[in-house]
Amino acid sequence: MHVIIIGSGVAGVSFAEKFRSYSADDEITLITRENDGYYSRPLLSRGFSRNDIEQSIILKTFDKLRAGNITVISGAGVTAINRSDKTVAITGSCKENPLHYDKLVLATGSSAFIPPPFRPYTELFFCLNSLVDLKALRKFRQSLLNQNRKPDWAIIGGGLIGCEVASDLAVSGDHVTLYHAMDRLMERQLAADDSVLLLGVLQKSGVKVLLNQDVQGFAKQEDKVCVKAGPTAEFDALIVSCGFKPRAGLAELAGLETGRGIKVDQFMQTSDEAIYALGDVAELPNGKLYAFILPIRSQAHWLAGFLAGQEKECWTPPVFTTRAKVHGFEAVHPYNV
Ligand SMILES: Cc1cc2nc3c(=O)[nH]c(=O)nc-3n(C[C@H](O)[C@H](O)[C@H](O)COP(=O)(O)OP(=O)(O)OC[C@H]3O[C@@H](n4cnc5c(N)ncnc54)[C@H](O)[C@@H]3O)c2cc1C
Repeated sequence: MHVIIIGSGVAGVSFAEKFRSYSADDEITLITRENDGYYSRPLLSRGFSRNDIEQSIILKTFDKLRAGNITVISGAGVTAINRSDKTVAITGSCKENPLHYDKLVLATGSSAFIPPPFRPYTELFFCLNSLVDLKALRKFRQSLLNQNRKPDWAIIGGGLIGCEVASDLAVSGDHVTLYHAMDRLMERQLAADDSVLLLGVLQKSGVKVLLNQDVQGFAKQEDKVCVKAGPTAEFDALIVSCGFKPRAGLAELAGLETGRGIKVDQFMQTSDEAIYALGDVAELPNGKLYAFILPIRSQAHWLAGFLAGQEKECWTPPVFTTRAKVHGFEAVHPYNV
């Protein structure tokens, strides 16, 4: 059997390694746009306070996966799935293209969600969703530090990642203003009194927090970028952090059933019986996306066992919780996940 996996995040890599541990003979090919190896996405939001991050964030090189008998096609994007002949088309130079699969695992993850009013301004802001994004942000920041300028950032979005990034930049010595649309921070994950606690921690670290903000757009002014939200304010750079968007486009193009993500049943199977989906991109029958490391790894290990004939029962989500990686903050109540 030839199993093709698209994506080298925690979903794709955990599945590939676990499936290999069950089956020495099946062919496993992992196709990914990444070039840097398999890295820890949660560490992205600690990407400014740690100097060695660009190396220490790598959990496994692609060569290490290859040494474990997994074929890795890196720096390559899958552009189409042909379900009638069970092939995927790949960009770049690949000796066999399109590639035939018996089972296909979609682990394409998610990109940053950009609210519609911000879409005309994509040239004017950064996101922090991948290692490529982090490297671009670090390079920009370093260019300011080299001119003895203290970077002045605006973060748009006071959810989990926005608060983490604001915190990490502030403890690294930068000026940070955090714009949030709601009347309290991380309102989806935190109890109201924990939001108050978080506000105090961020303010103490020097973050200027602006709540109830209606950000309408951005503008370029010489080497500054302006945020238009009531009074206009100027910054060196902006980071938009307004949630995530499952990368379900490939599945949609192939005619698979999609909603917010790729629809799967409790066996992680899509509307095509040869195709499965895992991770940020998979939408379970209860309408949920389990966009956290622990349940994703559980899905991936479960599917590996299922395809290897070791699991008979459907996947059930593990009990899990999360925490915000904001320096100096501990919530009193459990998070909503
Ligand atoms: C800044 C940040 C901080 C976070 N912190 C935490 C945390 O503290 N705790 C926690 O549990 N979770 C955290 N998360 C969420 C967690 O990281 C994600 O839920 C998880 O990494 C998703 O893994 P995935 O494998 O589904 O997708 P991804 O990690 O998004 O991987 C998808 C992969 O697919 C590749 N790909 C996509 N389309 C194609 C294509 N067409 N062809 C080839 N390759 C393709 C991409 O290049 C990528 O390598 C954080 C996320 C971010 C962004």
